[in-house]
Amino acid sequence: MATLRFKALTDLMSKKVPDMKFPEKRVSEFYGELVFNDEAMKRYLQPSVYKQVKECISKGELIDRSIADGVAAGMKAWALDHGVVHYTHWFQPLTEGTAEKHDGFINYGPDGKIIEEFSGKHLAQQEPDASSFPNGGIRQTFEARGYTAWDVTSPAFIVGSTLCIPTIFISYTGDALDYKTPLLKALHAVDKAAVDVCQYFDKNVTKVIANLGWEQEYFLVDQGLYMARPDLMLTGRTLMGHLSAKNQQLDDHYFGSIPERVAYFMRDLEVQCQRLGIPVKTRHNEVAPNQFELAPIYEECNLANDHNQLVMDTMKRLAKHHGFEVLLHEKPFAGVNGSGKHNNWSLCTDTGVNLFAPGKNPKGNMLFLTFLTNVMAAVYKGQDLLRSYILNSTNMHRLGANEAPPAIMSIFLGTQISSMLDSIVEKVSDAKMTPEEKTELKLGVGRLPEILIDNTDRNRTSPFAFTGDRFEFRAVGSSANCAAAMTVLNSMMAAQLVEFKKNVDALIERGVKKDEAIFQEIRNLIIESSPIHFDGNGYSDEWKAEAARRNLTNITSVPESISKMTTEHAKDVLVKTGILTERELEARAEVEYEKFTKKIQIEGRVMSDLVVNHIIPTAIQYQNILITNVKGMKDVMGDEADTLTSAEKDLIRQISKHVSEIRTKSNALEEARRVANKISCEKTKAEAYEQTVCPLLEEIRYHVDKLELIVDNEMWPLPKYRELLFAR
Ligand code: ADP
Ligand code: MG
Repeated sequence: MATLRFKALTDLMSKKVPDMKFPEKRVSEFYGELVFNDEAMKRYLQPSVYKQVKECISKGELIDRSIADGVAAGMKAWALDHGVVHYTHWFQPLTEGTAEKHDGFINYGPDGKIIEEFSGKHLAQQEPDASSFPNGGIRQTFEARGYTAWDVTSPAFIVGSTLCIPTIFISYTGDALDYKTPLLKALHAVDKAAVDVCQYFDKNVTKVIANLGWEQEYFLVDQGLYMARPDLMLTGRTLMGHLSAKNQQLDDHYFGSIPERVAYFMRDLEVQCQRLGIPVKTRHNEVAPNQFELAPIYEECNLANDHNQLVMDTMKRLAKHHGFEVLLHEKPFAGVNGSGKHNNWSLCTDTGVNLFAPGKNPKGNMLFLTFLTNVMAAVYKGQDLLRSYILNSTNMHRLGANEAPPAIMSIFLGTQISSMLDSIVEKVSDAKMTPEEKTELKLGVGRLPEILIDNTDRNRTSPFAFTGDRFEFRAVGSSANCAAAMTVLNSMMAAQLVEFKKNVDALIERGVKKDEAIFQEIRNLIIESSPIHFDGNGYSDEWKAEAARRNLTNITSVPESISKMTTEHAKDVLVKTGILTERELEARAEVEYEKFTKKIQIEGRVMSDLVVNHIIPTAIQYQNILITNVKGMKDVMGDEADTLTSAEKDLIRQISKHVSEIRTKSNALEEARRVANKISCEKTKAEAYEQTVCPLLEEIRYHVDKLELIVDNEMWPLPKYRELLFAR
């Protein structure tokens, strides 16, 4: 019997590098050609319309309906010149990935003939049915309509023959149902709060921009082998599979030469990204076999996030042309590294100053220290909130596992910054210091070396590492929408900066000089948030113990972590600042509980199917071969066979034992699901899934993986780890 697995393996041997033609032009010549960017707008829009659009973009405001027709006319002309026939509002519901509903550019003209039509009305707004997207109970059944509205700060682009217009997605009642709406609000909040603080130092600062540079990790698996793994297809990860004899122990994949079929895929992907105006730059092999990374040059946060969404989508689409499937799951394979998505984050002023880069003079360094210490305070106070937006049913397999940051939030600063902070705390508290000496110290801060942190001073075990002129939030999952992490992080920073300003102003009010007031506040923040600062090995057990002594939280339970989305602190950060309404905040937690339950539910169902339809029948088939053999031996050899077949008989026993355990546990799994499904409270249901279903998935897997080692390789139906990880 030829299993799908063997068919895939045979096919693989004849797979070749695709016969592809890449553009002969230079990148600079085709970069952004599929984007309605500044250049296209200048060419296709009336000058007055162009001017108004630019104004909306710089203010981050929705477009005025009076110019929407003018913009649409230009956009239509541009799109038609590029062979476009459809348009869609492209939005980011609270699912994984983006959503789109295509409408043709057609309508009946006045004389009844078909014309190409695309007006300001179509550009500005669409009304997709909101009832089919996660809404956490916000949507009333009688009013299912949702609205999408153009986000002018993110340019329209073309995929295939469709014009895609980036939009926000809200319900009929005005509640945000997507990732983009709160992100835009958070970016606005941090802009305002940061500008206010920057004004202490430089009155010319009028805007602060949050930047994001993401690093996307992913696995590639041969498409044929993927098709033979129902678990990969339906859950994104392998629910079973014995470790390959060789995996990543030789450290021979990381930065190794890129396999040829993979290099072709990457090249194809890069060209597509560059045509879409996505500045992809870096590519390399990752630690696990068949694991890779792609990173662009950083961009403004909202645009960078749109680009990440677009890249994930493009990757999945293009991979198929190359006979691959992309795995974006955080932990597709047990026992080898999982995938993350480092979010490199910085704040920059419109005067060209990176607020996370140490300054060149004492004033610049005070500014830097102000922002650095406010980040520390924000993350310290918001550790649970931050985690609650990144820990989910898929990332839980990665956080806290030994190759990824733990579920404890901490900040790495490196030796130079650390000693600088120490000296501020120690010396300035010295009452015997004269004011002159204190000034001396402050100026000393200004003498920091310009290039602070070299690449050796990196800590790869920290979930939140300072890397010289930015913070690298490393705990974000590979499949995540970066907007979730970026929304809370920027909101937390905004709330913290507002508080900082309030405190400094209060000191100034009491007659303290501005510089001294800022310095005192910085010092307070360093002391107050010192527990979050940790430069050691974040993967070690010692850190877990130390973190507990520092009262840092270490939440690994997903439902417990989700519950931190609705605390008073969460409301202070997100509701009081106007980023989410209380209803939206609660709804988001509901969506997360539901998502967790549903994902584990699917894993439970797939597990049952696999063991009942794939694993047990195969094990019994092989067991019958052994039984026939033992019987035959007895016929031929008589009593002598009793000892000669004792090992076989032991195998028969072992198979029975594993099969019986699998049956019992998969019955228990179904029962556990049945019981949990009856619970109506989403939080309690998620907890039930976590406590009763998740452990059974692991227990069943244990027995299946044992069987994989016993059963004839030719009969085993599922592609093995060695094939999934090394075949390419
Ligand atoms: P790593 O060694 O962590 O892989 P890279 O040089 O590959 O570092 O950079 C990772 C990402 O960080 C890239 O997307 C890069 O553009 C981004 N990055 C660099 N500087 C900044 C910054 N100031 N703000 C935000 N992102 C940045
Ligand atoms: Mg990198």
